[in-house]
Amino acid sequence: MTDFTEKTQALRERLAEISLLNSIGAALYWDQATYMPRGGAAWRGKQLAYLTQQAHARFTDPALGKLLDELMPYAERLPADSDEAALIRVTHREYQRAIKVPAELVAAISQHASESYQAWTVARPADDFARMQPYLERTLDLSCRYAECFAPYDHIADPLIDSSDYGMKAADIRAIFADLRAALVPLAQAITAQAPADDTFLHQHYAPELIERFTTDVIKRFGYDFERGRLDRTAHPFAIRLNHGDVRITTRYPKDTLSDPLFSTLHEAGHAMYEQGVKAEYEGTPLAGGTSAGVHESQSRLWENLVGRSYDFWEYFYPLLRSLFPEQLAQIELEQFYRAINKVERSLIRTEADEVTYNLHVMIRFDFELQLLEGSLRIADLPEAWHARYQADLGVRAPDDRDGVLQDVHWFSGLIGGAFQGYTLGNILGAQFYAKALSERPEIAEEIKRGTFSALHSWLQQNIYQHGSKYTAPELIARTVGRLDSAPYINYLRQKYGALYRL
Ligand code: ZN
Repeated sequence: MTDFTEKTQALRERLAEISLLNSIGAALYWDQATYMPRGGAAWRGKQLAYLTQQAHARFTDPALGKLLDELMPYAERLPADSDEAALIRVTHREYQRAIKVPAELVAAISQHASESYQAWTVARPADDFARMQPYLERTLDLSCRYAECFAPYDHIADPLIDSSDYGMKAADIRAIFADLRAALVPLAQAITAQAPADDTFLHQHYAPELIERFTTDVIKRFGYDFERGRLDRTAHPFAIRLNHGDVRITTRYPKDTLSDPLFSTLHEAGHAMYEQGVKAEYEGTPLAGGTSAGVHESQSRLWENLVGRSYDFWEYFYPLLRSLFPEQLAQIELEQFYRAINKVERSLIRTEADEVTYNLHVMIRFDFELQLLEGSLRIADLPEAWHARYQADLGVRAPDDRDGVLQDVHWFSGLIGGAFQGYTLGNILGAQFYAKALSERPEIAEEIKRGTFSALHSWLQQNIYQHGSKYTAPELIARTVGRLDSAPYINYLRQKYGALYRL
């Protein structure tokens, strides 16, 4: 065996062990979110913190660093797009990032996140911000300490943004968001000046089993593989990779709504198909799994919105849905249904927001993250700042904090910083990828009208899914669409909503 082969083998063995630890953690996390009784929470938190610590210790082992340093010269001589070179390059980059964060800080973050999340599950229904304030203060402190590990930086949020959307900085995102905002605000104004679409028929009883029968059929047709996945119920929908052969999704069935479970399921299936499509050979390495928050979100929102809220899609699927719910939908024509699921309104809740106003919710959170990290906004002032900003940007004010600052899980189960920009980057990228797919595979549109999706799924498989984390988001974007550009997304919104609202 050559020196290179031997060392690569040693690298793979170390990485496989770390992957085992992480995948055990994923299985425990899934159990915690789905079926674990509440009484198991405290010990489960310790189990997850322990696994995180163990994985971190192995990943930051100086012996791994030495191995990577020895392998890097080989990787540089290999063709840039070879899998072997990517494995070494990506692992080396992540190693360099990981060794900057002390093990005790990693453990403290994990332990705190778990405690904070448990507190939030009680505090949010009780509308009790005061209970969460000390947790959030500690979260902010831990977030700043995490960012400090990467000094110097241009903005304190940069290291946090970089860890979810590699290669992006606060300044880049501010510029992208400012452009998008300039297009969205007048569009939202023009639409909401008109009479709102009637969507009352969506808010009545729809039997969860029947919704599930419908969404299961749809996501199977999309290409979600139930032989390597499953669908369960949770308070907050998510997709999770346990390993290449097991990528699960969850959804919820709140009372008296059809849209929420329907579109949440399509959304999570989009995330999961990305994970299922990663090359099997990458299992047990850092290449297994989606490349960034923004690219991941582009995949979920592509299926949820660009496909799942399109007229073509419902031309095929509406008769099927109607046959499952004759009582609720007998009087509702396709056009009316299509308008209702695309209703634009000034609303309080990000996850329920329509395509036009959604990004305004994200921008509010992104700006607050920067201000909190900069120290120009205090946690104690956050609830009121939240209400004021919603009033200014969306013209609505929540009656409480439950639907204000307490609504999103992110700051209560992770760090402050880098948590939200990926959603809007995903909307922008999703539109770019979709436009590119349509131009290269014009049959996609015809297929959707027939309820089949193989051309779209195979384009995504070929261009996005299979690569996992082999390419960074900027590299993947360069290979597929050239550069990040919000124009296709803005055009899409103007066309679709221009037609819907005769603008
Ligand atoms: Zn998502």
